Amino acid sequence: MYIYNSASRKKEELIPHTAGKLNMYTCGPTVYHYAHIGNLRTYIMEDVLEKYLRFTGLDVKRVMNITDVGHLTSDGDTGDDKMLKGAKREHKTVMEIAKFYTDAFFEDCKKLNIKTPDVIEPATHCIDEFIRVITALLEKGYAYEAGGNIYFDTSKLDKYYIFNDFNEEDLAVGVREGVEADGNKRNKTDFVLWFTKSKFEDQELKWESPWGLGYPGWHIECSCISMKHLGEYLDLHCGGIDNQFPHHTNEIAQSEAYLGHPWCRYWFHVHHLNTGDGKMSKSKGEFLTVSLLESKGYDPLAYRFFCLQSHYRKTLEFSWDNLDNAAAAYSKLVARVAPLYENVTDEKTDEAVFNELLKGFREALDNDLNTAQATTALYDVLKADAPAAAKRCAVEHMDYVLSLGLAEAAKKLLAGKAKESGDIPEEVAELVKQRAEARKAKDFAKADELRAKITELGYIVEETRQGTVIRKA
Ligand code: AMP
Ligand code: ZN
Repeated sequence: MYIYNSASRKKEELIPHTAGKLNMYTCGPTVYHYAHIGNLRTYIMEDVLEKYLRFTGLDVKRVMNITDVGHLTSDGDTGDDKMLKGAKREHKTVMEIAKFYTDAFFEDCKKLNIKTPDVIEPATHCIDEFIRVITALLEKGYAYEAGGNIYFDTSKLDKYYIFNDFNEEDLAVGVREGVEADGNKRNKTDFVLWFTKSKFEDQELKWESPWGLGYPGWHIECSCISMKHLGEYLDLHCGGIDNQFPHHTNEIAQSEAYLGHPWCRYWFHVHHLNTGDGKMSKSKGEFLTVSLLESKGYDPLAYRFFCLQSHYRKTLEFSWDNLDNAAAAYSKLVARVAPLYENVTDEKTDEAVFNELLKGFREALDNDLNTAQATTALYDVLKADAPAAAKRCAVEHMDYVLSLGLAEAAKKLLAGKAKESGDIPEEVAELVKQRAEARKAKDFAKADELRAKITELGYIVEETRQGTVIRKA
């Protein structure tokens, strides 16, 4: 697979450090509010990337942090503490807020068919790890104490890596936002590793450290959590485009200073979802959530489809009209997949036919995760002159990666149609009812017997996420 590496600004072949295995780190959510659908665009595209890497046969290990401490509104070291802001807004403790919005985040992910990473680590669980790495950075001369806080000294690096073409002013994060700069910093690009003399008197979460009672900066958490679970060599690091600078720049600085060798090989950044009035952002207060889409009658998977229709390295414009178009196209796609689930037989699929059907799909995703082209390849399979069983098998493999819930949605559609046309004979309907009762009573032997009778009468009964589906064999 070839992927655009933001660090080299080139498409490069993705070659893991250890053959056959791939380590992947994802910057997780700051859990002070619901995730908006912009954040979720990033997680959807990362999910497709992870699943495609698995699809190609790699043994992927993916780690995600949960930011429940240390993230200030400016992404640098100025502005309000995001978690504290959330807690005040809702008159709750920081930990209550963190728990509530972490759960809400994973519920949204589930609705969008986003797989849960192998390891999820809240920053507050790794304080000892942060202290250990910060201590080492101080010992190695890459950090200093000033005004009670510990700072990373960017002047000690041969190169302070900057992702894109940031101008000088942008380097002084916070200053441009009209917030007073931190006078303790020796260089304007230095950043806080540990806050002891916090300007937030009411900071709830504080831990003992060699430098006094305090709490970690935001950037150190991702470096430490990644190294803790994925070791000294990271293959792939993901995040939204806004994470590039200063967050990822600072992650590289402190990780490589600590390790003494290069750390992460590939950087994958998803561009933003914008609304008509600009970038969607949590701090603006008003934003679109998955629940809001649902309350307006949209299937969350229609939103996933909307995201897949454009390339992750392009800004995506959200509008209700655009979402309506995607929702209509998604329904049409399901309707086109549905006939593959009529009269299903367990015919074997010829491997050569299968590979041919998947060729376009593989080419699309091998080329810097071109999901729009991959969905076109899906339509090509539906149009192809090939046995239904082979097409069904190909579609299911593609949908492992795209995760549009096509098989389930197609079966649901067929079940709905069968119900509407009332073409299930009385006798079959009665057996289905009896079978449901037997299953409820956990009498599975009887349920199987009834299923056999239903099959004898020429019908198939199946359990899906949406419930029991009955269709003609
Ligand atoms: P946060 O919860 O603010 O730490 O952000 C979670 C993830 O969403 C990060 O990877 C951000 O880079 C990403 N993100 C933030 N805003 C947007 C947006 N408007 N569109 C896409 N991704 C975003
Ligand atoms: Zn991060």
